[in-house]
Amino acid sequence: MMNYSDTHTHLDFDNFDQDRPKVITRAKEAGLVFVINIGIDLQTSQRSIELTREFPGFIYAAVGVHPNYSSDFDLETLKRVETLASQPGAVAIGEIGLDYYRDYATPAQQKVALLAQLELAQRLQLPIVIHERASAHELAPILSQWQAELPLESAIKHRPGVMHAYGGGLEYVPMLLEAGFNFGIGGPVTYKNAEEKRELVRMLPMERMLLETDCPFMPPQAQRGKRNEPGFIPMIAAKIADLRGVTAEEVGEQLTGNAKRLFNIAN
Ligand SMILES: [Zn+2]
Repeated sequence: MMNYSDTHTHLDFDNFDQDRPKVITRAKEAGLVFVINIGIDLQTSQRSIELTREFPGFIYAAVGVHPNYSSDFDLETLKRVETLASQPGAVAIGEIGLDYYRDYATPAQQKVALLAQLELAQRLQLPIVIHERASAHELAPILSQWQAELPLESAIKHRPGVMHAYGGGLEYVPMLLEAGFNFGIGGPVTYKNAEEKRELVRMLPMERMLLETDCPFMPPQAQRGKRNEPGFIPMIAAKIADLRGVTAEEVGEQLTGNAKRLFNIAN
């Protein structure tokens, strides 16, 4: 029996409106035991919470405001994120972070949203899901300092969160590992020109990797040009297995266990 999980989905997107239950069924048939659906703004965070009610015990939610959508983040936004994060089924704050590749929000606006949501995660003792793009030089030190200043008794001191789709350069990885972060490994690890993603998989401890699709985006190589979905997770696990000289089954078992610990999921 396979034991897979997908720690980064956007199943609320309208790409799935026509066949969402079938996508979930295929995920279960592929051996997935749960997925985490990630909000990028208030509306998708709300929708993520609704999905936890529509698919209880299979879909869990992360709620938060993505850096690209942080230009009008204010105290009212923060209060609404907090309300959503307090719902059953909410297991993380995210996705949050810094994105200097796009300029939908200024770096200053992005930092206001990031720091406020880091403080919220500490207060609610929820791990964080981090979006990083062209920003690791600033983001890694911010996250490292945030984790270092978490009280020792904090539930997230030793499971602060996950670097999703990390592409910030291998030189920041030791700092992020030292701070206790996990790394989400997705479809790009199967891409021809993604040698650095494979190098990352070779250097990370097995207990610090998670499986993620980022669906509907980033399908594995064999599905490129199509919509991604959680049922493709075994292709990512197979690639990791290949790189680490273990079986896909072992990868599924270990990385799903990692995800359960990080997000405090019992099933
Ligand atoms: Zn995402």
